[in-house]
This record gives sequence, structure tokens and C-alpha cells, in this order.
Amino acid sequence: MHALDQLHRLTERIFWMPADSRTDRPMLGLVVGDHECLVIDAGNSPAHVDLLRNAIEAQALAQPTCLALTHWHWDHVFGAATLNLPSYASQETNRILQVLATLDWSDAALDQRVADGLEIGFCRDMIKAELADRSQLQIVPATTSIEQQFMLDLGNCVAELIVVGGDHAHDSTIVYVPSQAVVFLGDCIYDDLYHGARRLTTSQIFPLLERLLALPADFYCASHHEQPLTRAEFEAEAQLLRHIGTIVNQIGADPDTILAQISQQLAIPLTEDHHDIMQAFLAGLALPEVQSMY
Ligand SMILES: [Zn+2]
Repeated sequence: MHALDQLHRLTERIFWMPADSRTDRPMLGLVVGDHECLVIDAGNSPAHVDLLRNAIEAQALAQPTCLALTHWHWDHVFGAATLNLPSYASQETNRILQVLATLDWSDAALDQRVADGLEIGFCRDMIKAELADRSQLQIVPATTSIEQQFMLDLGNCVAELIVVGGDHAHDSTIVYVPSQAVVFLGDCIYDDLYHGARRLTTSQIFPLLERLLALPADFYCASHHEQPLTRAEFEAEAQLLRHIGTIVNQIGADPDTILAQISQQLAIPLTEDHHDIMQAFLAGLALPEVQSMY
């Protein structure tokens, strides 16, 4: 288990601070160039930003000079005003952040949005747990909107921001650092939480996985995984998603037959994970149950 309040070195220029599921804090990344230091995602509160700054100081590294946001979800953006840095996000991320900035984030308003089907209970509960007092909460869009791709020169090290979309959030952007062979995925490979039952669609996740695997990377950092994945580990996860998605597509809404097929074809005991992935692909066969306000 990696210490949750420390930065861990992944490569010569890349560090990461682990996710903390207690209040849904995502993994944060740091890319240290000769002139600039890029932080990937802003954390979910001023306290999360403090933890990052202290961890950076403890290792005598440079504090970040710029910020990349992977998507609009609260846990990745609520620390942005505290960081107060030149920042980069997709046009869609910024459009939605401008909407979020106008919302009331009091307990009563959050509860009402959940009752109206505009917010999900999980995020409401996590926001309350992380940020009991939200009277000072400021939500700010990034200072630069990017279209499809953007190269950030950090000094003898380039970070490529690539808008990839996907089921989880249609504005998802990854950060690829070619010289370090590392990809920060944000949440782009996860399922969609915002349109009723958690859902994955083969039409989105299959080409996305292919695109990600086409990058010559040694490590893939998914924001709510416990640690960065090696290429082999990411390939195995992708393979499992493709396998279950393909079976669901072939068989349709018949969970028992699907589970029997998975167990037979993979020749391994079924886990809760297999079950959850199947349920997500089954939900993805139909249109979303609810429309998001965004
Ligand atoms: Zn997310």
C-alpha cells in the first residue's frame, strides 16, 4: 500500500499522489520539466491541494506552475481556484465548469439536485464528506480552452493533452508524456455514472482502448486506481473489457447465459468485477435512463 499523503516517483520526471477513496480523491500527477512543472488534476478541495503542496515540499521538488484538467467532475476540479495557475482543459470541460460555477453548493441545493435527478447521491455524499463548509467554494474554468490536441513544452519534456471523450465523461482529456512513456488517463476508461445505472458502451470504450494502447506507453495512470498500471496490466484490463463487452453484444439481455459464457471462455472463477462490468455493458445496450443536465 502506498502512503496516501506522499508523492511517489514513477519515472525520472513523473510523480503521483495516490487516490483516496474515503472522500473520492483522485490520483494527482506531476510532470517536472526543466522550466515548468505540470500538475494533472486540481484535487477535490483546498485541503487536497494543501496535501499535494506539502508532499511536494517534503521531497524538495518544484511547486506546480501549470495545471491540466482531465474532465469536469467535482473531484478533479474543486481545487483549481486554490492552485490558481495557468490551466488547460477541453472546450467542453470549460463550458461545463462555467455552468457549475453558477450553481448553489449548499447542502439543501445539493439534496434538491439529487431529488431532481440532476446530481448523483454518491457525489453529493462525497462532496459533503470532503468539504463540510462550502461557503468559500469557488469553481473556476481553466484559463486556456483546448480543441483536440495541445502540446505543452515544460522544458526538455513535452506533455500532450489529447481530448478523447468516452462513456465516463464526453469531455475527457488525457495527458501523454512521450519522453517518459506515461499516460494520465483521468477517468476516461471508467463507466458513466451520470445517466442512471452505471453504463459502458462498446461503441465508445472499444475504439478508446485501441487508441490508448496505440500510444507507445509503459505506464497508464487511471485516477481512481490504487497505483499506476504497467502496460501489461492495462492490456489485461482492456482485454477483459473487450471480452465481456463482446459477449454482452452477442448474447444481449440474458445475464445468466452471459456469465456462463464469461466463466467458460476465460476459464477463471467469476468475481464481482466481472459481474459489474457485465451490468455496465448491459445498461449500455439501451439508451441512457436519464439525461444529464450538462
Ligand atoms: Zn470522473
